[in-house]
Amino acid sequence: MDEADDRLTPLRERVEPAWERYWWNCGDGWVDLLVRLAEDLSTISANWTLSQVKSKFGSLDFYASPHADDPDVQQRFDARVREAQTEASSTCETCGTPGVLRIEPESGWYLTLCQTHADQIGTETWKRS
Ligand SMILES: [Zn+2]
Repeated sequence: MDEADDRLTPLRERVEPAWERYWWNCGDGWVDLLVRLAEDLSTISANWTLSQVKSKFGSLDFYASPHADDPDVQQRFDARVREAQTEASSTCETCGTPGVLRIEPESGWYLTLCQTHADQIGTETWKRS
């Protein structure tokens, strides 16, 4: 989706200037969980900043800093980010309904998708061997 989308405002307003053009590379399906994450991070640290949010190998990468000297704040911040990553790992990147990690056989690309979106692009469920 377009990083200028209004729904992304709670995230975009945290982006560090150096990352303005490169910060977003995610599907629509994760927007809701990311907006909730941004709101919670703001209650943990008023000064947090974001450098990048992306889908990588079907997982959520979220690079952010609380800018806090307090190790307790850092710990709560990191824990909340991990919670969002866990949530993303079972959420379709395209539509936000429950999904699982899959692989596109031809490209070897990993994506977290629901059955409908997996069928559309012909992925197979990824199994740990
Ligand atoms: Zn879907």
